[in-house]
Amino acid sequence: VSAENADKPWFKRLSLTTWIFIALALGVVAGLALQGTPDIATTYIKPLGTIFLNLIKMIVVPLVIFSMIAGVISLSDIKKVGAIGGKTIAYYLCTTACAIVIGLIIANVFNVGGGYTLTADELSYEAKAAPSFIETIVNIFPSNFVQPMSDASMLQIIVIALFFGFGILAAGKKAQPVADFVNGMSEVCIKIMHMIITIAPFGVFGLITPVVATNGPDILLPLLKLILVAYLAMILHMVVVYSGMVKAIAKMGPLTFFKGQVRAMTFAFASASSVGTLPINMECSEKLGVRREVSSFVLPLGATINMDGTAIYQGVCAIFIAQVFGIDLTIGQQCVIVMTAVLSSIGTAGVPGSGMIMLAMVLQSVGLPVEGIALVAGVDRVLDMMRTVVNITGDQSAAVCVDSLEKRKEARQAAKAA
Ligand code: ASP
Repeated sequence: VSAENADKPWFKRLSLTTWIFIALALGVVAGLALQGTPDIATTYIKPLGTIFLNLIKMIVVPLVIFSMIAGVISLSDIKKVGAIGGKTIAYYLCTTACAIVIGLIIANVFNVGGGYTLTADELSYEAKAAPSFIETIVNIFPSNFVQPMSDASMLQIIVIALFFGFGILAAGKKAQPVADFVNGMSEVCIKIMHMIITIAPFGVFGLITPVVATNGPDILLPLLKLILVAYLAMILHMVVVYSGMVKAIAKMGPLTFFKGQVRAMTFAFASASSVGTLPINMECSEKLGVRREVSSFVLPLGATINMDGTAIYQGVCAIFIAQVFGIDLTIGQQCVIVMTAVLSSIGTAGVPGSGMIMLAMVLQSVGLPVEGIALVAGVDRVLDMMRTVVNITGDQSAAVCVDSLEKRKEARQAAKAA
């Protein structure tokens, strides 16, 4: 025990991140113990997780709105916001394309669908209609001020926050009280978020135990190869692409990056929701030294449109389904998968299970049977947990890189001006 920790009570000597990790491990153990009686886990332990997730969801909308308006006010320039936005979107598109290429390569190399025998009665899946591309664009612009907040529609909230931010700037002196209010509220939301996050270990335990209790070996074993291949591709993408990016662009060591990010990763794994993890991701951003005006823009945008883990999953599943059905995909078709998976991952909402719904779009684009989704649906949660980890870690790597690029640009401008 170090000197500074010596006078703390025993449970405070470990960091919160360590406690979250311990909770995850205990949750897995409890889940395994309760596999014979999963009802106990879903009835008595799950509510802990639900309460925590509810609290997080309660704070996420005001947190994003106020910190984003405050961000726009502090940038005080439409050009700066545009520059951050442009870099962020370019980063998101490039890394998502890399993700799906890695997914396709690993799935092909490991022959992901090989050895799986199809049983006909498993095959019924009704694809839900995905909104068209135009519809998605139109939907970004809210016709109503309140509804996006009650639905937590992040893209619409971002649009509202941008308008209010620029509105406050345009109104100048007269809006000073509003600007002060927004800055104050942004601080208040961050404080509330810290309070909620202190009970994260209970939340993580409550979320993970029922998942482990209900996903027994009977469900997981037949699809173990798919799970392992998808996890391998996702871990590889994080280790190669994110480490490479933060090292090359922000000169940050991968260990520093992942150490700062581990709390958000653990919670993403337990909750399978990017939007639910957003407040924790914003907190990790602070620890990694990203300025709030950058993280408050890059992370909410990423939680909505940047889904590298989902893109990898969709690529791996497309190859899996093709191989199980004995369909050979040409290189041309795999290129089509790259494009549609980028689009469909953008359209995927940051909530549990939505990546699987969007998988239909990828399968349809190359004529693969949509019923194939029924094959992978049983293990979706297990895949979802890992793809959410990748999704939010990708957002964080963007925040670190974009912030570093902006800092360097400002330093150059300052040097020029001097
Ligand atoms: N659950 C994922 C997320 O929130 C989305 C998905 O289902 O792929 O990031």
